[in-house]
Amino acid sequence: MDEEGKRRVVIVGGGTAGWMTAAALVHQLGPLVSVRLVESAEIGIVGVGEATFPHLRLFLRRLGIEEAAFMAATHATYKLGIVFNDFGALGEEYMHGFAGFGEPVAGVPFHHYWLRMHREAQGSAIGDYSIAVAAARARRFHPPCDDLGGEGAFSYAYQFDATRFAPFLRDFACGLGAERIEATVRHVARDAERGDVTALELADGSRVEGDLFIDCSGFRSLLLGETLGEDWESWSDWLPCDRAVAMPCTRPPGEIEPFTRAIGMSSGWRWRIPLQHRLGNGYVFSSAYLSEDAATAELAGVLEGTPLAEPRILKFRPGRRRRAWAHNVIGIGLASGFLEPMESTSIYLVQVAIDWLLELFPLGAVEEGDRTTFNALIDFEYARIRDFLILHYHATRRDDSPFWNRMRTMELPESLAERLALWRRSARVAHYGRGPFLEPSWVAVLLGQGIRPDAWDARAQLPDRARLEGAMAALRADVDRRVGSMPDHAAYLHDLIGGEALDG
Ligand code: FAD
Repeated sequence: MDEEGKRRVVIVGGGTAGWMTAAALVHQLGPLVSVRLVESAEIGIVGVGEATFPHLRLFLRRLGIEEAAFMAATHATYKLGIVFNDFGALGEEYMHGFAGFGEPVAGVPFHHYWLRMHREAQGSAIGDYSIAVAAARARRFHPPCDDLGGEGAFSYAYQFDATRFAPFLRDFACGLGAERIEATVRHVARDAERGDVTALELADGSRVEGDLFIDCSGFRSLLLGETLGEDWESWSDWLPCDRAVAMPCTRPPGEIEPFTRAIGMSSGWRWRIPLQHRLGNGYVFSSAYLSEDAATAELAGVLEGTPLAEPRILKFRPGRRRRAWAHNVIGIGLASGFLEPMESTSIYLVQVAIDWLLELFPLGAVEEGDRTTFNALIDFEYARIRDFLILHYHATRRDDSPFWNRMRTMELPESLAERLALWRRSARVAHYGRGPFLEPSWVAVLLGQGIRPDAWDARAQLPDRARLEGAMAALRADVDRRVGSMPDHAAYLHDLIGGEALDG
């Protein structure tokens, strides 16, 4: 505690994770804590991470940050989901939208009825019954409101310039009393008996003492990994991609897609993220199958605009620290683990770690029970995302490269193998109840990548076929009507932020 009785929180790292944590702690815990954040200009931030998950809206809302101010500051666009190309097979496309498909009928999820109709009558694509998918296809956007079916009908996220988000939050957090220290940490001091971290020793010889240390130092994992030696659990047998080459380029003028694209490549996949002022591009690949030079050339060959920076190689390991909270150190962000950005989940993982930290925040001594709870909750989030990502690679008919052959034929984690078996025999998705990917997400990817179940819920056979056809046609017409009343995405953005950048 400091002399005013505040709990002294020290954060190492001023990337997205560090400043999200600082902003949330000062805003939510106010006078109970003092927050100091040490960041090093010498080291810098990872500076990628442009596509997000709908939960980020809650984060901003809870902090009272206005969406328009955030969008203008980070050059953001709206995101209704992710369009996957060349995953199930070359030439195929589907969208994982932030919305369900249709409405359950008599408690039976809509996709069971769709499966029946599709088998009997070749009805329209399941995406036609999703507002998010239909709006994305039409390049239209409006936030959910009563006319459009309200908050439950669909959700949305953002695509933003990763180098602008942390500075935006830094201003917010410092405005509420967080203290920023620009310095490089050279040494970490620990209590000889308990092993807790007691202070950071900085390059200029000064010390920053604290009660609770948050490791947001990125891939370096200065406190959790280097200092405490927390074990790393590798998932590279299932997720062999370990490199990315990033290369932003100019955005073609005109429409701005309200979605991220993930496009299968020869030895991985690439992202394409439209921002207000440019396109974010990057190729996530496995160095076991492709050299850095070859990946750079493959990406350069498909860029849609003029490159805005030299290609940048990023190296990573898929997996996580076995414990995200050890002693009095909590790892948040890349310091605690990494899963490739195919479903834009890293910033989401930062956010859930912050939420649980706030809920379990120790005003007195750290309790072992709280640590264990926190670690179990983080494990659970990581493992579910891991399985969902593996599904995208495994559910493929691609046989055009050694990389896809390996992914198609790999042995799955038991948890995923069981889910797939359940889907194949019954079209049921084991319920999670919580976490980022609920039933509609699994249905989107399973059907989108061509995994058709053998059977569906018996109750979907009950309605008379003509009645069912009529109900589905009405549902589709309703989706079309709602989407038809939305403005063009670029026009909506233009009205919101008045940005000249959009006109380019
Ligand atoms: P960093 O940004 O690396 O910040 C680390 C901080 O620690 C820096 O301020 C650094 O200076 C500081 N530091 C380190 N050592 C010291 C020291 N000794 N002394 C003082 N300071 C120190 N996430 C998504 O949600 N969506 C995406 O689309 C997405 N795409 C990605 C693509 C790639 C290729 C990669 C690699 C990641 C992607 N991510 C994505 C993840 C996302 O970038 C990160 O989760 C996010 O930026 C948080 O990073 P961080 O703050 O943990 O680390």
